[in-house]
Amino acid sequence: MSVRTRFAPSPTGYLHIGGVRTALYSWLHARRQGGHFILRIEDTDVERSTPEATVAILEGMAWLGLDWDEGPFYQMRRMDRYREVLAQMLAAGTAYHCYCSREEVEAMREDQRQRGEKPRYDGRCRERTTVPEGVAPVIRFRSPDDGETVVEDLIHGTVRFQNSEMDDLIIARSDGTPTYNFCVVVDDWDMGITHVIRGDDHLNNTPRQMQILQALGARVPVYAHVPMILGPDKQKLSKRHGAVSVLEYREQGFLPDALLNFLVRLGWSHGDQEIFTREEMVEFFRIDAVNKAASAFNPEKLLWI
Ligand code: GLU
Repeated sequence: MSVRTRFAPSPTGYLHIGGVRTALYSWLHARRQGGHFILRIEDTDVERSTPEATVAILEGMAWLGLDWDEGPFYQMRRMDRYREVLAQMLAAGTAYHCYCSREEVEAMREDQRQRGEKPRYDGRCRERTTVPEGVAPVIRFRSPDDGETVVEDLIHGTVRFQNSEMDDLIIARSDGTPTYNFCVVVDDWDMGITHVIRGDDHLNNTPRQMQILQALGARVPVYAHVPMILGPDKQKLSKRHGAVSVLEYREQGFLPDALLNFLVRLGWSHGDQEIFTREEMVEFFRIDAVNKAASAFNPEKLLWI
């Protein structure tokens, strides 16, 4: 089966250097295997997404030569498809309408805390037989109560999640809009993604996404969660550490290959080779050889290249 990877940025700011490294690893994995690399713009956060950010992503990727074979796909243009899958799940009973108000859920959680239990939606609407009037329901995924969901991550190894610790996730809000995890699941399924390579800030979403894929009868992709990039002070990399937007590097006159060479080595190595041509990167890169610890990035060091 041919390898299909994707890069799925949210267009809420500039194209961050950390995002580019994830994109690079995903691109290299596809190229190395002779597979496909897909670009998907996750623009469902309408408050924070901007057309300028989308342009910056497309320009940054093009400048770096991280070419995509399919897309860009925009989630906002796929709403009908998400609604269709929500309807299928409701019909199949793998999702249900929940009429609980925020106050009711909060009161439930408070009771659980008082009893020393971990707060969790108790699934009381799963078997509801009467429908309250005038309440617009959310849709929840009926998640498994027992057992565990095991992520076999190519970078982090085996990561186990207890199903009893995950409650029935809201997959559509009361205004009918699908939520983030749900859109990702439907997209990865429809786009035939075989390897999800993304930042490890998403590792906790993965068991939920796997459960929904399983409920849909979809094949679960292989996951590789790439560790974060930190600043030299070991704090999350941000503007105060120097340039973090890719286009700033373009403006400063850096060569795309120099930047990619620098990024590929943050968390991956091949013997003691320091300089790689693009062809060598494609030839030698192995996603399962990426370090699981976060790497520190010093934008100043790029000046030495
Ligand atoms: N849109 C997410 C982000 O920008 C990535 C989600 C994913 O790769 O699954 O962090």
